[in-house]
Amino acid sequence: MKMLSPVFASLKEAETKPFWISNQDAPEAFPSLTCATTCDLAIVGGGLTGLWAAIEAKIADPTLDVVILESQHVAYGASGRNGGFFSESLTHGLAHGLSLWPREIDTLLRLGRENVSEIFAYLDAEGIDADQKFCGKSVMALRPHQVDELAASSKQLQEYGEKVEFLTGDETRKDIDSPTYLASLRIHDGSGILDPAKLSWGLRQAAVKAGVRIYEMTPVKALARNGAGMLLRTASAEVSAHKVILATNAFAPLLRRMKNMAIPVFDHVLVTEQLTSSQIDSIGWKESQGVTDAGNQFHYYRRTPDDRILWGGYDAIYYRGSSRVASQEQFDASHQLLAEHFFETFPQLEGLNFSHKWAGMIDTTSRFTPVIGRAFGGRLAYAFGYTGLGVTSSRFGAKVALDFINNRTSELTELTLVKRKPIPFPPEPIRSALVAKTRGALAREDIDGKRGPWLGLLDRMGVGFNS
Ligand SMILES: Cc1cc2nc3c(=O)[nH]c(=O)nc-3n(C[C@H](O)[C@H](O)[C@H](O)COP(=O)(O)OP(=O)(O)OC[C@H]3O[C@@H](n4cnc5c(N)ncnc54)[C@H](O)[C@@H]3O)c2cc1C
Repeated sequence: MKMLSPVFASLKEAETKPFWISNQDAPEAFPSLTCATTCDLAIVGGGLTGLWAAIEAKIADPTLDVVILESQHVAYGASGRNGGFFSESLTHGLAHGLSLWPREIDTLLRLGRENVSEIFAYLDAEGIDADQKFCGKSVMALRPHQVDELAASSKQLQEYGEKVEFLTGDETRKDIDSPTYLASLRIHDGSGILDPAKLSWGLRQAAVKAGVRIYEMTPVKALARNGAGMLLRTASAEVSAHKVILATNAFAPLLRRMKNMAIPVFDHVLVTEQLTSSQIDSIGWKESQGVTDAGNQFHYYRRTPDDRILWGGYDAIYYRGSSRVASQEQFDASHQLLAEHFFETFPQLEGLNFSHKWAGMIDTTSRFTPVIGRAFGGRLAYAFGYTGLGVTSSRFGAKVALDFINNRTSELTELTLVKRKPIPFPPEPIRSALVAKTRGALAREDIDGKRGPWLGLLDRMGVGFNS
C-alpha cells in the first residue's frame, strides 16, 4: 500500500468550510426578499461593513427604514472567513501610513484608536461576546535582514507611543518555541484577536434589534437611478431606496468604477484539530497573541479559544480576469504549502491533523488601504478594499460611506486617504502580468532584503505592497 506523505495526510480529513462558521451553530437564516419594497437606506452586503453601516445609521436616526440585502447569509464573505486579528491601524501599519500620509498620521492614528475603542464599547453595551482578547501581537523575524528591520520598526512604534518590546531569538523562543525564529517584536497594545463569526452574528442581532430588516439569500443583480433615489433589482423583487451603500467587498462589483479599484486575491487558511496539553506546553505561547512573520509574503497565526491553531496567509493567489469562481477556494497546492510551512515552524507538532481548510477573497487595492467613495450624485456610496485588514476598519469605511450619502463633510471625508483614490489596476492581460511581476519582486525581497528596482518604482508611485 502507498504511504501518504505526512503533509498530505494531515489535510486528508479537513472539512472544506471556514472553522468559525462550521464549528458553532449559525443563527437561523432570514427569509429572502420576495416582493417589492421601499426603504430609506438599502445596504448591499451583510458583512461587517454592511452591518456597521446599518447600525450606525440607526444610531444616528432610529426612525430611518434600513434594509440589508445579502446574497448568501451574514458572514458568508471575508467577515466569516478571516483570521480574527483586529487592529487600530487604518493604514496597514504605522510605517505604511507614515510613508503615504506623513502629515495626517497623528489624525489617522487617533481615528484608528477611537474606532477600536468605540467598537468594543458598543459590543459591551449590546452584550456581544466575540471572544475578544486584547493580547496584542508578535511579528517574527525569520531571515537575518528582518532582525534589523524589526529593531528599526520597534523604535518607530515607540516614537508614536506604542508599547513594544524587541526580543532576541532566545527570548522569542522562550515565548513561542519555533526553530525558525531569529528575533521578534512584541506589540502589547492596539490589537488582539476575536471570533469573526461571533462578531458578525452579534452585530446582525443588534441590527435587527435596532429595527433593521435583513434579507438573506437575496443577491442584488442590478442598480439604477430612480428619480431622487435608486432602484435595486434582485431575482424576484425590486427595492426602491432613497440611498444605497454598497458593502460587497471583493465580490463582483455592481458599479463599473469599482472594477479597477481592487482585485480579488484568494487567501488560504487552515485550522488544526485541538492540541493536547503536552502539545501546547511544547510551544508555550501563553499570552495567545496573534502572530505574523515579518516578510511581504507572511503567515498569520493564532490560537483559538478551544486550543487549536489557525494558520493562514503566505500564498495569496490572484486569478486572471479577476476570477471569483468559488471552486478556487479549495486549491490543494496552497493548502499543502501552508501545512508544510506549519510543520517547519512547529516540528514538535508533527502528527497533528488539520480539521478545516478554506480560502476567502481579499479585496486588494494598489495602496493596501480602503477605497470609499460616492456615485449617482450622492445617492450611493461604497466602501471596500481593506486589503486583509478590515475586521475593525470596516466600521471606519461604513462611517465614511454614511457621511457621503448624508452629504456631510466631516473629519473622515476630509482625509487624504479618503479623498485621493489609489491608482487603479490596469485591464487584462497587463493586470495579471503586473501582479505576477510584483509578487516575484516581493518574494525576492523576502530572501535578500533588497527592495529592487520594480518595488522602488512602485514605492515612488505611491503604490502599496510593502506590508
Ligand atoms: C482569509 C481572510 C483572512 C483575513 N484575515 C483578516 C484578519 O485577521 N484581520 C482583519 O482585520 N482582516 C482580515 N481579513 C479581511 C476582512 O475579513 C475583511 O476586510 C472584512 O471582513 C470586510 O468586510 P465586508 O463586510 O466589507 O466584506 P464581506 O464580509 O466580504 O461581505 C460582503 C458581503 O456582500 C455580499 N454580496 C456581494 N455581492 C452581493 C450582491 N450583489 N448582492 C447582495 N449581497 C452581495 C457577500 O455575500 C458578502 O456577504 C481577512 C480576509 C480574508 C478573506
